[in-house]
Amino acid sequence: MKRPLALIRDVHAATDRHTEQLVREVTALGAAPPPCRAGCAWCCSEPVYAVRDEARLIAVVIRRMPPERQAEIRAAVRGWVERFATSALASEVAPDVVAYRRLRLPCPLLTADQRCSVYADRPSGCRLHLAASDPDACEDLARRGGQQFLRRQRPCVDLVMPLLERGAVETDHLALLLHRELFGEGPQSAAHFVADLADSPAGRNGGASGPPGGGIGPHPARAAGVAPARVAG
Ligand code: SF4
Ligand code: SF4
Repeated sequence: MKRPLALIRDVHAATDRHTEQLVREVTALGAAPPPCRAGCAWCCSEPVYAVRDEARLIAVVIRRMPPERQAEIRAAVRGWVERFATSALASEVAPDVVAYRRLRLPCPLLTADQRCSVYADRPSGCRLHLAASDPDACEDLARRGGQQFLRRQRPCVDLVMPLLERGAVETDHLALLLHRELFGEGPQSAAHFVADLADSPAGRNGGASGPPGGGIGPHPARAAGVAPARVAG
């Protein structure tokens, strides 16, 4: 069986192939390509979910960075967790995107010049998040609810199946998972979710534990590292 981090990199590669194909298909139909580009990062100040192995991979990448940068990220992760854990949104399974944006709590991996510190190893949720119309609709909170995103639900579920077949899948806000990886402990949010299908007598259709209604069936996107809120736009 593949090592977990190699499997995560396979999932990320499959995610990238999926998004590239999706972009080819929509542009062939005459739509404009997604406006997403380096330096545009309003979406990095929205809820970001991941699976535990994605956070584990990012922690490995962080530990290879220069000590000063590692210290900055560790401080940013601590700061994020302290602020989020004391906010009302920590008790919500899928925090509202606009309410979250009002917290002004960017991903702790976002740099001062609005770049991703771990771009090559960012979670699937980030890789799948492509706007379909102008970035102003991401920036302007009054228009954010009307922003459209490129997505196709079923392939997201297919992408995560190799992880499900390996056994337990744990998901939560990326920063909370990162805190546990970097500091060996940390709080969980209401979005925390564990599915262990390998040990389940019910097999793929059961065996999930987590928040009410949080089984694999109702929330496949969460296991794929795509937040319900992000999927819903
Ligand atoms: S989703 Fe929106 S905020 Fe994020 S990169 Fe694309 S246009 Fe920019
Ligand atoms: S991991 Fe990178 S791309 Fe994803 S939200 Fe954080 S800074 Fe943005």
